[in-house]
Order: sequence, then C-alpha cells, then structure tokens
Amino acid sequence: MSHVFPRHCHSDLPTAVRGDGCFLVDAQGKRYFDGSGGAAVSCLGHSNARVASAIKDQVDRLAFAHTGFFTSDPAEELADLLIANAPGDLDRVYFVSGGSEAVESAIKLARQYYVEVGQPQRRHLIARRQSYHGNTLGALAAGGNEWRREQFSPLLVDVSHISPCYEYAERQPDETVEAYGARVADELEQEILRLGPDTVMAFMAEPVVGATLGAVPAVAGYFKRIREICDRYGVLLILDEVMCGMGRTGHLFACNADQVAPDILCIAKGLGAGYQPIGAMLSSRKIYDAIRDGSGFFQHGHTYLGHPVAAAAALAVVRELLDNDLPARVAERSADFAGMLHARFGQNPHVGDIRGRGFFWGIEFVADRDSKTPFDARLGLAGKLKKAAFAEGLVCYPMPGTRDGKSGDHVLLAPPFVASDDELAGAMDSLARAVTTVLEQVESL
Ligand code: PMP
Repeated sequence: MSHVFPRHCHSDLPTAVRGDGCFLVDAQGKRYFDGSGGAAVSCLGHSNARVASAIKDQVDRLAFAHTGFFTSDPAEELADLLIANAPGDLDRVYFVSGGSEAVESAIKLARQYYVEVGQPQRRHLIARRQSYHGNTLGALAAGGNEWRREQFSPLLVDVSHISPCYEYAERQPDETVEAYGARVADELEQEILRLGPDTVMAFMAEPVVGATLGAVPAVAGYFKRIREICDRYGVLLILDEVMCGMGRTGHLFACNADQVAPDILCIAKGLGAGYQPIGAMLSSRKIYDAIRDGSGFFQHGHTYLGHPVAAAAALAVVRELLDNDLPARVAERSADFAGMLHARFGQNPHVGDIRGRGFFWGIEFVADRDSKTPFDARLGLAGKLKKAAFAEGLVCYPMPGTRDGKSGDHVLLAPPFVASDDELAGAMDSLARAVTTVLEQVESL
C-alpha cells in the first residue's frame, strides 16, 4: 500500500522510474511521450547531461547555505544571466522554490513597496477571471479559477477580477480585434476608478493564460494598453510567466512578444526544467531601491531561498536554452507545430479553437462549433481525454471548462523544446486516437 498522499485519492498511478529524452518510463517499461512537459515544466526533456552534471558538481561543492548568512556563486551567476536577458529595468532576482512562492513574493513585494514609499492605502490587487496564479492562499486569491477557489473562498483576501483577453470566446462578431483588446484592457481602468486610484497597488496577469484556459495569448496591443493604464494610475504591473516563460512561447520571456515590460515578473517551471524545484521573482530597480532606502529589508522569506543546488541546475538550464538558441528555435518551429495541430484537429466538428504560441498550444473542445457551446461538464471530457491519451503513451494536460460556461474543456500541449519533428508527429497521432475514442464514447451516451 502506498503511503504517498496523491492528488486524487482513488488514482492508481504507475511508478515513473526513468526519464529518457522526451519520454518517461514506468516500472513496467511502458514509455510515455511527455507532450506537456508535466505541466509545462520539462523544456529540456528528462536526461540532460549538462544539467545533471551541474547538480552533481554543486552537491559535491556546497549543498546548502542559508541566505540569511550567505549568497552563493550559482545564485549570483543565475541572477546576472536572467537580468542580462530580462525586459525593461528588471534588476534584482529573488529566488524561491516554485511558482506559487514567486507569486506570493510578488504580491507582498508590491504591498511593501507602497508602504515604503508612504502610500499604505494602496492595498488592492486586480487580476483576471479564468486565470491561475498558484495554490497558496495569496496566489489562489489572485487567481480567477472558480473551481480551485470555491471551498477556500472564506480564507482568501479580496482581489478584484476583470475579464481575461480571450478572443475566441469573447470577441463580438462585429468587433475588430483591436477594439476588442481595447475594450477588455479598459476594464482595468474602470476597476481602478471604481476602487479609487490611490488604493490600488498592482495588476497581475499571465501573458499567455496557461492552466485555466489552455494557452490563450492576448490580442496584439492589449498589454501595451494595460501598461499605459497601470502607468497612468501608478499601479504596478506583475506578469506571471510561471508557465509561459523561459522560452516556452518562443521568447525567453513571454512578454517580449507583447512588447511590454512589467515591474515584477514571476517565473518557475521551465527555469528548473524539472531538474530542481526553483522559481524566481524579478523586480524593477525602482521597487528594489525603495525597499533598500526604506526599511532595508523585504519582509518575506523561506528557508530554501536561493538554494545553491537548485540555482546551479537552473543556471545550467538557462545556459542550455541560450547557448543552443532554443527560444528562437521554438519560435521558428511554432508554425509547423500549429500546422500539425490544424491538420489533425482543424476539421473536427468538436474542436472549437486551436491557439497558442511557440511550443505552448491549446485545443478547445465544444459540443457545438457554431454556437461555441461547451460540452456538459458532467461528461468529464477533460478527464476522459487525459486517461485515453495516457493509455496511448502520451502525457498531455487536459483541463475542464470554466464554471461560468464561457470556456470548454481543453488540452494543453507543451512538449520539450528538444522534441524532434517525428516525436511531435507521433504525439499528435496518439492524441488524435485518444480524441476519436473519447468523442465516440461521449457521443454514444
Ligand atoms: N502561476 C501560473 C501561471 C501557473 O501556471 C502555476 C502552476 N501551474 C503557478 C503560478 C503555480 O506554480 P507552482 O505549481 O510551481 O506553485
């Protein structure tokens, strides 16, 4: 009997014993193509020798030194490398152990910044519906995924949620893309004015919405307008690139495609590429300086901040990404990836939308393509797809539609950047078989 507390108490999980390139191997020897990198984590696949050897070297040299007493070479070098490639005036890096910790740190940093600069009345955070920012209480409060929040809502701080930029479901037939982007961005201004401009500390968003909507990028111009609105009211812009960052969308930082720079940026997942648990919050010079010149102390912290082994692993990951030009390669291969998806699924009457960037794509399923009506949630389409794909030897990331009925079940694909064209084509075949099986099952009910 297993004593591990799994996510799903009744699940009977195979034991993963080995990683081999883009494949995971279980104790029975069955191979699974990691078509979603777990949850957009394993950007370098599972047996990268350079990262493995960086970890071993670091453990041999220094496994741990508490950041209350020391800094370390790998943390310093990693921060330098990230900042050298970061957008805008992001200037300092705060290393944590994952995405939720990065988001929590960002919320607390935004709040402390406004306390330090003498505006303690700024305490409101605005975020977006149908978003996910993590599972700790602050990050969960920021997220707009009703299903995840529901039972914890009495414990969550008050966060205002505006519409996401979700063109497929929300743009009106008579509306131009530009007008749509402006309309949903302007919801931020309306919410700031409703709350009182001098009470809002920050706005948080994912440049490409990952887990909740399935790889939904904003339309062109949306984030530029968001940046302008934030600047107009002194509201900090926090971008959560935990899932979409680190080359996943064809840029090292996803916001580069939107030509905006945030005040605070959160990354994780692809930063450690699964080799070590690590996340980071990048902060602008303005914020760092205000804290340095104020209390001199960011009132936050965890035991494993800047863990040397995690930092050494991430340093090797980022070097591997940059030395091999992997974000640019992902950008170049993105059109082929999209082409394969459209060829396999584009004509399917239950595929409503195929969207994404780089190696980050979502397929949204609908009961009716014309009206964009999602499948009845009770059918559990996403769960069935996950199971059927897994049986085919494919790890992908299906998620149910949102409770408000505005989005349907979707499957997220986020394969390793090192996957070959043949491996990707094989994954599409597996997914196509799984989709056919599940749609036949659902239609026969
Ligand atoms: N933000 C985003 C956008 C995410 O996708 C996730 C994880 N799916 C998180 C935050 C939380 O990261 P973690 O699971 O590492 O705590």
